[in-house]
Amino acid sequence: MTAQIINGKEIAAKKRLEIAEEVVNLKNRGVTPGLAVILVGNNHASRTYVTNKEKACKELGMNSLLIEMPEEVSEEELLAKIAELNETQDIHGILVQLPLPKHIDEKKVIESISPLKDVDGFHPINIGRMMTGQNAFLPCTPYGIMVLLEETGISIPGKHVVVVGRSNIVGKPVGQLFLNQDATVTYCHSKTKDLPLHTNQADILVAAVGIPNFIKAEHVKNGAVVIDVGINRNEAGKLCGDVAFEEVAEKAGFITPVPKGVGPMTITMLMYNTVKSAAESLVRN
Ligand code: NDP
Repeated sequence: MTAQIINGKEIAAKKRLEIAEEVVNLKNRGVTPGLAVILVGNNHASRTYVTNKEKACKELGMNSLLIEMPEEVSEEELLAKIAELNETQDIHGILVQLPLPKHIDEKKVIESISPLKDVDGFHPINIGRMMTGQNAFLPCTPYGIMVLLEETGISIPGKHVVVVGRSNIVGKPVGQLFLNQDATVTYCHSKTKDLPLHTNQADILVAAVGIPNFIKAEHVKNGAVVIDVGINRNEAGKLCGDVAFEEVAEKAGFITPVPKGVGPMTITMLMYNTVKSAAESLVRN
């Protein structure tokens, strides 16, 4: 293997130490950062994510409030709970675990969260602020990717970044964050013709597709930085990314593994955003 591994677990641990210090500072000023997580229904994966978020809060000395609602809860009841949390002073972040049951309008729910407490960074106001380079809560996975590169010492201005995937939670915002840092950005998606032609131009290639081992060595330029966002199960049920790790690592300059790559950064940046929100509430009050 020639590529250097970008160890997300180590970088996340380092960031969490910094966040824990900021929690202590805030507590000394009378504020304990608090995150409310709303879980609707009993989706197994969602429950695991929520448990991990609660655990991370606890480890960092933050408060967490888990609100569980049944699968049949009405949209009205969910919106009323969010409205209540918007007004609750010791809650600084509100997160509604997605996906929601089909009878609930996800967009309406996201827009009902106060942009000041939208620590997922999904509210259109935060997305607009991010696009115009203003202070905003940045979506956690894209933000985590930027921190991974910064901590690895990879310079971004002038680089050609190719993002494969254009979802609202990963692909689109990560491309925007690279653009904000003066990269030249190309987006690819399911309708892109001749994908390897584009991906082979990439100094930094981000794969956010959701297909196991989709990006092969033929997609990658020698020495490129390859960021694998995918969290998938292969045919044998084993966790794997969107990148065929073994063959791509022979060609890339840097690569994130799955697990222990981008994954650990997502919850870390959620904690970061919640602490940022608590600090900003102090300035406002
Ligand atoms: P989505 O399913 O929302 O988006 C997938 C994107 O991939 C779409 O834009 C789609 O294009 C594109 N795509 C699909 N097939 C192809 C193809 N053949 N060629 C090129 N592009 C294609 O997924 P997410 O963005 O939500 O997630 C992507 C992956 O990242 C998943 O594995 C997910 O589990 C993982 N993930 C990991 C996180 C982490 O913390 N590490 C957090 C969030 C997600 P089109 O728009 O045209 O349909």
